[in-house]
Amino acid sequence: MGIDVWLPKDALPAENVELEIPQAVADVAPEKPVAIAEAQQQQAEPASLDTDVSTLDWEALQTRVTECRLCDLHKSRTQTVFGVGNRNADWLIIGEAPGADEDRQGEPFVGRAGQLLNSMLQALDLAREDVYIANILKCRPPQNRDPKAEEVAHCMPWLQRQIQLIQPKVILALGRIAAQNLLQTNTSLGRLRGRLHYIDMTPTPVIVTYHPAYLLRSPLEKRKSWEDLLLAKKTLESGVS
Ligand code: SF4
Repeated sequence: MGIDVWLPKDALPAENVELEIPQAVADVAPEKPVAIAEAQQQQAEPASLDTDVSTLDWEALQTRVTECRLCDLHKSRTQTVFGVGNRNADWLIIGEAPGADEDRQGEPFVGRAGQLLNSMLQALDLAREDVYIANILKCRPPQNRDPKAEEVAHCMPWLQRQIQLIQPKVILALGRIAAQNLLQTNTSLGRLRGRLHYIDMTPTPVIVTYHPAYLLRSPLEKRKSWEDLLLAKKTLESGVS
């Protein structure tokens, strides 16, 4: 398995997407309660509800995130990881949370998984600079553990404001954690793949696929991920919303 190895652009023609995409595939991880839903149950009034982000412009938003101490992750972070890319992008890529490399460099998807994501984008004729890349969480969880419910609840408004500002034409959720928290569902990643989803705050369709870090461990799943990317491309080109 090498980072440079990615399915060629003609591996699965775009016109075959509807026929080729399976209705359901195996789960990539055991199901667990969705963090955001847990948080809403556990906290009658999350601190993030006091934070009115709906009028912030990019500069103000980035400043607020940089200074954010709404959850305990601020204690262990090297720096916040705000997001990177084209702020007028058609594509918004959403991952889980910063890892060690991202925490160090302040940019999402810069390690091996990031290199694979770049290859995935290249296969779609997209440069990293053409899309916007962000995470559910802006700060690294220690030892890369899964985000806690309260962390997601506090951090989600920052991402929601980014979505409002970008107004992307398609959102690609990478991995189970990103997908389940974005869509507020317990449904497995395998069952979320292959169709369009919608979240309350935007008419933008959301498409779910595997996290590049998972693909590094399970290269045989690359073909399914390629199908997901083609579905996203086709959705964007057809103007579905
Ligand atoms: S993870 Fe999000 S909510 Fe928590 S301190 Fe970092 S920016 Fe704030």
